[in-house]
Amino acid sequence: MKVFQLQKDLKNYLKINKINDKSIGFVPTMGALHDGHLALVKSSLKDNDFTVVSIFVNPTQFDNKDDLKKYPRTLKNDLDALKSVDKNIIVYTPIATDIYEGEVKSKHFDFDGLENEMEGKHRKGHFDGVGTIVKKLFEIVEPDKAYFGEKDFQQLQIIKKLVEKEKMNIQIVPISIFREADGLAMSSRNKRLTKKHREIAPFIHQILLDTQKMWQSSSIEEIIKYVENCFAKQPLLELEYFEIADEKTLIPSKQKINGNKYRGFIVVHAGDVRLIDNIGY
Ligand code: AMP
Repeated sequence: MKVFQLQKDLKNYLKINKINDKSIGFVPTMGALHDGHLALVKSSLKDNDFTVVSIFVNPTQFDNKDDLKKYPRTLKNDLDALKSVDKNIIVYTPIATDIYEGEVKSKHFDFDGLENEMEGKHRKGHFDGVGTIVKKLFEIVEPDKAYFGEKDFQQLQIIKKLVEKEKMNIQIVPISIFREADGLAMSSRNKRLTKKHREIAPFIHQILLDTQKMWQSSSIEEIIKYVENCFAKQPLLELEYFEIADEKTLIPSKQKINGNKYRGFIVVHAGDVRLIDNIGY
């Protein structure tokens, strides 16, 4: 398996191999790979001649220094996991100063307001960091298709907007959320849960499933109240936000409008671990 650290080496390698119209699929990750990540990788392998997976804990998208410091880094295991899926995967593990070409800093992006809702409100500068790194990665890898998980639904919509605004010829392929057997959305952060928090964490998905059952017969206000009450009675989990928003604009809705598609978005703290999930209605 080829592993590159420097952008010029990866670019040279891809240039040599991209002859004869071969297609490139790309899966950007922050590592600590789990089966959710591997599902994205497998989709890319199925659709493309080459698959590039990047592993980079991008400092500029973290608004919280402690979260960045504690983010799991398991490169050796990640490389083994990728190798066991396919030995021909091309791995890119950038060095911050090389990919940022000097100062490790975000640029500012306008994603037509998508960046101001939910995660944008709660994690200042997060989507500038995401936009900056994904744009750089796209320029280096020049993929035909790039794969993103619906687990980070707002990020997925923002990447679609980035490609549209920057006029990049890349197809963004959404992949549905992979869950543990008990319903907890797979996440690199799950590794950091204590035993008691890991046991209670599937509660998040159970409540989301309840809201899905309530969707036809209840108002948005009633559903939000229900979720807030459930978490108020659950001392091990602290609700940061639950919002129901239009899937396209991500603007939180108070009322359902016929023909629009809605999704419930949730962030919960389990001890010092921040967990994110969502569900479609
Ligand atoms: P991350 O390493 O957390 O930045 O995630 C890399 C990519 O994997 C993103 O597009 C995520 O949305 C996606 N991803 C992470 N967890 C899951 C999951 N449980 N199911 C599907 N996709 C996921």
